[in-house]
Amino acid sequence: MEYNGKLLARARERLEQRRQANAAEQRRRLEQVYARSPRVREIDRELRSQMIALMGLAISHGGDVSADLARLERENLLLQSERAERLSELGLPADYTDELCDCPVCRDTGLASGGVCECLKKLYNRELTAELGALLRTGDECFERFDPSLYGAEIDPALGASAREYMTVMRDTCAEYARGFAPGADSLLFMGGTGLGKTFMSACIARVVAAAGFSVAYDSTSSALARFEQQRFSRDAAEADAAAGRVRNYLSCDLMILDDLGTEMTTSFSVAALYQLINTRLTERRTTIISTNLGFEELRRRYGGQIASRLEGEYTCLHFYGRDIRLVKKEREA
Ligand SMILES: [Zn+2]
Repeated sequence: MEYNGKLLARARERLEQRRQANAAEQRRRLEQVYARSPRVREIDRELRSQMIALMGLAISHGGDVSADLARLERENLLLQSERAERLSELGLPADYTDELCDCPVCRDTGLASGGVCECLKKLYNRELTAELGALLRTGDECFERFDPSLYGAEIDPALGASAREYMTVMRDTCAEYARGFAPGADSLLFMGGTGLGKTFMSACIARVVAAAGFSVAYDSTSSALARFEQQRFSRDAAEADAAAGRVRNYLSCDLMILDDLGTEMTTSFSVAALYQLINTRLTERRTTIISTNLGFEELRRRYGGQIASRLEGEYTCLHFYGRDIRLVKKEREA
């Protein structure tokens, strides 16, 4: 997996905060113990001077040091057991003042034998999802909350099933797709009228794929294409820079979700940027999910044959059916 530098730095910061909090807690416990038992402070001093003596032996060459080593080891064990006893007299476990860590695998360093430790990956994913969450509207998009009862139960002759049955299968298909996601998975085109849950479904997929540790970008088409425009035309260097970062992310992330294609202002520049986005990602075998209210004919009319034929030929098209969920919800509330 390729890490986003900014998010990885934030995840490492979180890990550092954990380390500092643990170190502070360890110091607090030591002071607490020393206050109640000055003997433990003495023992710790002796243990430290033993450690220094031991290091002295390790670097002194020549001469037989085995007798000295054996003596230090005996004394060390005696001191350790006395320390444990003192702590137990205070009603505390023997390891009460030991170094604390949240992750026993990497001891909160974030490094494990295979490279990045799982705990740092988890922190990274949390940052990733937080970033994504800012773009998701309500924050409760997940497959479990998909409500089939919002879709009609009457059989649609054209479908041979009810919208409710059909959309339940759609939910299961998308959930399976999200769980089995790997870079290079099929690109999807969500089609169907306004308010049929296309955005909800793509947000559900984004959440699952991001939680699995893949890089996901999620944006409305109008906002995404505006970044291309800022990158190219903005006179504000900082804004152009930030836009360029976003565009790089759009082009290179494992999963790009482009919401609401067809609601943006169409200009020759935006069409060219859209083509660049779609074509680059297809060429580099990166997965994209696009949702749109438009049909193929309208797509062709608005964006031209190049874009329409890419979408028609190389995306897996999923049709959403039913009535506008927002209207259904309103009727229920009435
Ligand atoms: Zn760890």
